[in-house]
Amino acid sequence: MPLLEKDSESKDNLQKMIDTLEKANVASLTGRMSTFDHEQVVFCQDKSTGLKAIIAVHNTVLGPAVGGTRMWAYGSEEDAITDVLRLSRGMTYKNALAGLNIGGGKAVIIGDARTDKNEALLRRFGKFVDGLGGKYITAEDVGISTKDMEFVKMETDHVVGLPDYLNGGGDPSPVTAYGVYMGMKASVKELTGNDSLAGKKIVVQGVGHVGEYLVSHLVKENAEVVIADIYEDRVKAVVTKYGVRAIDVKDVYDEKMDIYSPCALGATINDETLAKLGCSIICGAANNQLSNEQIHGAKVQKKGILYAPDYLVNAGGIINCYWEIIGYSREAALAQAEGIYAKTLEIFNKSKSENIPTYLAANLLAEARIQAIGKVKLSY
Ligand code: NAD
Repeated sequence: MPLLEKDSESKDNLQKMIDTLEKANVASLTGRMSTFDHEQVVFCQDKSTGLKAIIAVHNTVLGPAVGGTRMWAYGSEEDAITDVLRLSRGMTYKNALAGLNIGGGKAVIIGDARTDKNEALLRRFGKFVDGLGGKYITAEDVGISTKDMEFVKMETDHVVGLPDYLNGGGDPSPVTAYGVYMGMKASVKELTGNDSLAGKKIVVQGVGHVGEYLVSHLVKENAEVVIADIYEDRVKAVVTKYGVRAIDVKDVYDEKMDIYSPCALGATINDETLAKLGCSIICGAANNQLSNEQIHGAKVQKKGILYAPDYLVNAGGIINCYWEIIGYSREAALAQAEGIYAKTLEIFNKSKSENIPTYLAANLLAEARIQAIGKVKLSY
């Protein structure tokens, strides 16, 4: 079954089916795997270390499934399954759209990262990853640090996102920020015909790893940068270093701006914020910015705001990981992240010509690439 039917009526029907299955939670696991077309789901259990983990391999048409491992104290096993199925599918789309020769996968470790994580548990998890023989390559995600990955690496070579001293790519944030910057320039080009950010008022919500690197690009281009962060020390550091203005986190959506750049958390584009948001472009690093992809993706379009799909513009992080797999070079990773500019424009073109929201144009382009390359692979 195609990941998403081309015909829009079938797409609606498929979505209705997915919603029903998710809500009613009636489907068997293989039924749910077939709904999203997952290839393999591996349940891992080890009494001595207390490890409970699930590895989901969604699609390996383009190459080995790559995606991070999340450690989270899920309310139920069912929540963990839903999360790993959803996240692994998201990685297939992200990796395909970024033009990488890797598929999509994800792992979750069920537990509290502050209290349940230890060397033995992480190494046992590494052994399970190793057992998949390279079909799944892991990296860090929420609740898992680079340091934790060093323990996983002791048991398997199928790990990326490692520090420089382990021949890894180091901190991916500068590459992610560069990709977001490219997506932002392409968005301005789409609206004005010129990609200069000079004089554009840009609100960066969250000045952590990615946010701060993004601010440095924007300031260099003489944009009017406004920042907001929940941590006073982060705000102070960035204001002092770059001479930008700060606003309170609760005032972000009331601020008139040209570009809203979410670089903190997901789901910030929802009914409540859309009622207030006064901007012409949304482009930022945060994952899953649309609270409900279909509903808010369409509402953003209706409101006349140009939305640069998050999973395209924040692909710098996975691009950095990809170069770890094929032979690391920071220059090559940055050069590939620069391609986000052209891809963003391609998505906007498709969105305009087919009159569909930009998130959907991105999804369709990702699927088209998987289908096309899948056919190439059939040839000897
Ligand atoms: P980070 O934790 O270093 O920074 C996030 C910042 O947001 C922190 O300074 C935090 O204080 C701030 N914040 C939290 N809640 C906030 C709020 N309500 N209002 C304003 N600020 C708030 O994370 P990061 O690595 O910079 O990543 C930022 C986002 O980009 C995350 O959503 C992450 O998933 C996504 N992302 C990051 C990368 C990467 O390479 N680091 C790659 C892809 C996607």
